[in-house]
Amino acid sequence: MKATEPVSIAIAGVGKIARDQHIPSIGRNPSFTLAATVSRNAHVDGVENFATLETFLKERPDVAAIALCVPPQVRFTMARQALMAGRQVLLEKPPGASVAEVHTLKTLAGKNGLSLFATWHSRFAPAVGPARKWLAGKTVRRATIVWKEDVRRWHPGQAWIWEPGGAGVFDPGINALSILTEIMPQPMHLTAAELEFPQNRDTPIAARLAFIDAEGAPVTADFDWRQTGPQSWDITVETDAGVLALSEGGAKMAVDGVAADHGPEAEYDGIYARFAELLATGASDVDVSPLVHVADAFMLGKRVTTDPFIE
Ligand code: NAP
Repeated sequence: MKATEPVSIAIAGVGKIARDQHIPSIGRNPSFTLAATVSRNAHVDGVENFATLETFLKERPDVAAIALCVPPQVRFTMARQALMAGRQVLLEKPPGASVAEVHTLKTLAGKNGLSLFATWHSRFAPAVGPARKWLAGKTVRRATIVWKEDVRRWHPGQAWIWEPGGAGVFDPGINALSILTEIMPQPMHLTAAELEFPQNRDTPIAARLAFIDAEGAPVTADFDWRQTGPQSWDITVETDAGVLALSEGGAKMAVDGVAADHGPEAEYDGIYARFAELLATGASDVDVSPLVHVADAFMLGKRVTTDPFIE
């Protein structure tokens, strides 16, 4: 039987996540070939680069798909252009700077018969699928997220993250929400929030959120970007049948203190395997629920001003 030809794919935005994850994962997946990049400042050896998306779309009609690894503020415009030009589109998280723009993209993809994949990389962490299975059918009594990291270590020099639409501490925090919305047996909604904005920045450096699930269980989230020393990416779910603890961003899981090994980290390999499936079936995968909770936090949250942020 003749093997299926790999899908040629471009990457737009050759920054940290493109280099750390997308390029290596595309390289490991026989379903894809990296055919081009779109970057104003960078390039990948041996791959044709275009300074603008317009030029790429005009000159490379042979490239079927594009992964948008740019900041959320510019993602909608680029995704729309790519979909209008007939390209399959993969979106880094968060899928947009607003909820409504993602709905528009989904409609456009559907109208044009294209696949749109709004990725949530943390959902591909090794313990997330097992956690979802373990929680299915159980009654949740309480869930707690503690997501605290050092912004200076993980986001050095990223001005966009502090600008409107950049989401601030929700940029990592939305990863926790993407896990929780995936594993909780019931939907939840925000009831209160407090967001701390440094007086010299337009996005929050910390946020405390309170939710309630459909059966009345309280859920809290504590996001903080000022954590030095050990970093915390932990989710604990207390149920009628024991306590589930996810740690290291969904890499590790324990039930009632007993740890189980669910394999090594391979989040982006999982993303590209899923994208290949979507392309093969012509389907889209767009879940905005983590983004809805963040939008609700900006809507409901009390704003507190804190000390200036010094890079
Ligand atoms: P980054 O290092 O700042 O890279 C983003 C790239 O986008 C830039 O290098 C730039 O590439 C391009 N770009 C296009 N328009 C831009 C604009 N107006 N302002 C700034 N850059 C622009 O950011 P990143 O960490 O890779 O994050 C990109 C996206 O991936 C974000 O949505 C983030 O949440 C997500 N993500 C990041 C990580 C991580 O560990 N860093 C992990 C998972 C997901 P050119 O110079 O090539 O044009």
